[in-house]
Amino acid sequence: MSRVYNFSAGPAVLPEEVLKEAAEEMLDYQGCGMSVMEMSHRSKMFQQIIDDAEKDLRELMNIPDNYKVLFLQGGASQQFAAIPMNLFKNKVGDYIITGQWAKKAWQEAKLFGKANAIASSADKTFSYIPDCSDLPIDEDADYVYICQNNTIYGTVYHELPNTKGKTLVADVSSCFLSEPIDVAKYGVIYGGVQKNVGPAGVVIVIIREDLITDDVLPGTPTMLKYKTQADAGSLYNTPPCYGIYICGKVFKWLKAKGGLAAMKEHNEKKAKLLYDFLDSSKLFKGTVEKKDRSIMNVPFVTGDEELDALFVKEAKAAGFENLKGHRTVGGMRASIYNAMPVEGVEKLVAFMKDFEEKHA
Ligand SMILES: *Cc1c(COP(=O)(O)O)cnc(C)c1O
Repeated sequence: MSRVYNFSAGPAVLPEEVLKEAAEEMLDYQGCGMSVMEMSHRSKMFQQIIDDAEKDLRELMNIPDNYKVLFLQGGASQQFAAIPMNLFKNKVGDYIITGQWAKKAWQEAKLFGKANAIASSADKTFSYIPDCSDLPIDEDADYVYICQNNTIYGTVYHELPNTKGKTLVADVSSCFLSEPIDVAKYGVIYGGVQKNVGPAGVVIVIIREDLITDDVLPGTPTMLKYKTQADAGSLYNTPPCYGIYICGKVFKWLKAKGGLAAMKEHNEKKAKLLYDFLDSSKLFKGTVEKKDRSIMNVPFVTGDEELDALFVKEAKAAGFENLKGHRTVGGMRASIYNAMPVEGVEKLVAFMKDFEEKHA
């Protein structure tokens, strides 16, 4: 068996220890004679799995008691609708457009009310985060929405926007658990787990209790009401059981690694290796403004499309997978999530140096 260095933006690399443990437990989970995939979601065994997952996540993120944690399905994209359906009271949402995911969320919200684009970085292909210190926040806004880490473009908010007292809603899909955050600054934090946390099929929603009500838009499906899911402890219907189990294992892995402060250090170290090289390279260059660089997704180009394609091809042959940039941006992108070891980035940089010597 040999494993590649997987730089995919998602579904993405998972910790090897977690995969091995899951393999060992595949046929017989803790002596119960069946796989987690085969057990009832109403069983004591599964209740323990989901309870432990929530407890460990609360510990990792230091989630205050007045927030609920929901394990849902439908991916991050389903939340684009669920958020306005649940949170629209005045039917006004303010959106900051920093890339395709924020834009999709904004467009979806328009189906349900007035969705304002209050800032955007579309003018420079989303290569920066707009100044969010004094935005034209709508007086009636039910919330201000951001996509905190822009997976496709490789930018991140190093500082949260000034929402002028309005509830902050954040899509953290591609920076979930990559560093400590102050949950109390948000009304809703959500993310698809397939970028940095677990297998596709689970979306985690962390939501302040006062935002969970029966006062939702008329016609909101039962399944999309946060109240339904919160009241049922994420077990209103069959949840994505196996995915939740793997997320739980990743939470334990993160705790054993020292938690999110240690993870931040680990991620910053990897990002620095790559950015330092990009800044000194004669061939490769990063595509976003330095002050807004993500430590999770690192896009770069040579400036020559043919050379980009050759790089991706040769990198693949050398065991570095999924370095092709998003289809809308081109070039390359290295996603260096929690589970990417430092050696993976060191070896990638060494490979890039070799490539540069041959082609610069
Ligand atoms: C991948 C991604 C999404 C879409 O996630 P799905 O689970 O496929 O719906 C949304 N937002 C961000 C930031 C992403 O990276």
